[in-house]
Amino acid sequence: MGKIMENLNRRCSRCGRDAVIELRYEGKFLCERCFTRLFEKRVRRTIRINGLLKRNDKTAVALSGGKDSATTLYILKKLSDRIKSEVIAITIEQGNNEYWKKCLEAARNICNELGVEIHEYSFKEEFGITLDEIVKMSKSIPNPAPPCTYCGVLRRRLLNDKARILGVTKIATGHNLDDEIQASLMNFIRGELNRIARMGPVVGILRDKKFIPRIKPLRECPENEVERYAEIRGLKFLGERCPYSKDAFRQTIREIINKIEENHPGSKFQILRSTDQLIQILRSGINSKEIRRCEKCNEPSSGEICKFCQIREEFGF
Ligand code: SF4
Ligand code: ZN
Repeated sequence: MGKIMENLNRRCSRCGRDAVIELRYEGKFLCERCFTRLFEKRVRRTIRINGLLKRNDKTAVALSGGKDSATTLYILKKLSDRIKSEVIAITIEQGNNEYWKKCLEAARNICNELGVEIHEYSFKEEFGITLDEIVKMSKSIPNPAPPCTYCGVLRRRLLNDKARILGVTKIATGHNLDDEIQASLMNFIRGELNRIARMGPVVGILRDKKFIPRIKPLRECPENEVERYAEIRGLKFLGERCPYSKDAFRQTIREIINKIEENHPGSKFQILRSTDQLIQILRSGINSKEIRRCEKCNEPSSGEICKFCQIREEFGF
């Protein structure tokens, strides 16, 4: 994809200034100014054509402190005045070791610089248990799920609950193009088409007033371009990866997709387009009016007992 070219002896294909990035899928080199314009235009287009934001929306960016959510916050904040919507940040500390502390610190700094209100929550305070404790305990149960599954379920529940209390109408996450198509291919290979049906620019099939829609403004932005954009804008994001991010399957998929893109530029966008077509087909076969509720917590759920309550029972919190 767009290869970062710090000291490239090339000129911007649009204006002739020094190029800082190559977009191989477009056969172009771009300078900082032309690249940031193109990047922002693409995000605005994703928002517009998918109706992600409306006037008077109150959006909470799920801010981890990494490049993706920092960029999401930066762009939405920039847009918020124009479309008269409000933007806040919600940050969640999954554990209390060094890594999570650094995440929180980065999130606070970013909000401080951008003048955005930040709301901080933690697994420990809300659920009485950290992700690290769950992962440790999971080692002694049969067939434990990967850490990201526990993390994702608990984080989504906490985000949704707090967003509701804060009067938030949309939750924005930092998922980029690479995240989206990796998830799509992983679900496809595992035969979990129901999960693909729940993907897309607005997450979820269920439309329920208890469920705050989650939007993904960066889903058409390649990961390396998000990183470059965040650097150019001077965002002080945390470059370190989560210690649990070494999912072997995702890593394999990432490498395969990158190889395909290298040999056939533009394939990443094509995989996203095919995924979106598949989502439409899959959704047309699902009765979206059929909303189930968890028997324990009464939240919207795809089964009798929601994933959150299953985890809570399993780990006794
Ligand atoms: Fe959670 Fe996995 Fe992301 Fe780490 S990599 S923050 S465990 S979802
Ligand atoms: Zn439940």
